[in-house]
Amino acid sequence: MKSFGKKLAKKRPLIHAINSVGVIASVVIFHISLPIIMIAGLIAGLFGGKLFCRWFCPIGLMMEKMMPSNPDEKSIHLYQYYKLGCPIAWGSGLANRFSIFRIGRKRSACTDCGACDRACYIVKVNPITSLYKKGFKDAAQQYSCSRCLACVSACPTGALSVAVAPAKTTDKVDSPQP
Ligand code: SF4
Ligand code: SF4
Repeated sequence: MKSFGKKLAKKRPLIHAINSVGVIASVVIFHISLPIIMIAGLIAGLFGGKLFCRWFCPIGLMMEKMMPSNPDEKSIHLYQYYKLGCPIAWGSGLANRFSIFRIGRKRSACTDCGACDRACYIVKVNPITSLYKKGFKDAAQQYSCSRCLACVSACPTGALSVAVAPAKTTDKVDSPQP
């Protein structure tokens, strides 16, 4: 049976598309100003980390659609570069280490297969990060992790999952499973 995290990962593109239409409608139809949306995105980031980019942002949606399915380093750097201009990405990225929407990790279920690292765009461009290797910086706690859940989706054993849990201050520790 598919875990909640895998189901959520599969639905994320649809949720992102629906939320993006909602954000556009808020601006165009309901005349909610962009600064208000930015403030809402930053407040959401305090709890969810940098999830606005891959769960709510219309521009993020377009950028994701323009990326190849297996992006090379150049595409990933370009994607990160364009996000530099967005204050929501800046603010919520800084909250990644402290947010309660996290990638849970169950060491006992991990077989060191490396599928999570191969699916993560952060690991691809930053070789000192990993989702499972000891002694590496935790990719899911990095500034650039947008909670895309590609790692959760790729994990064949269910060792990675979506967790709502208090922030841990150290890397590579188990987070409580939902
Ligand atoms: S959610 Fe996982 S795959 Fe996506 S950026 Fe974060 S660590 Fe990488
Ligand atoms: S994909 Fe899952 S089992 Fe494989 S290394 Fe990553 S956490 Fe471990």
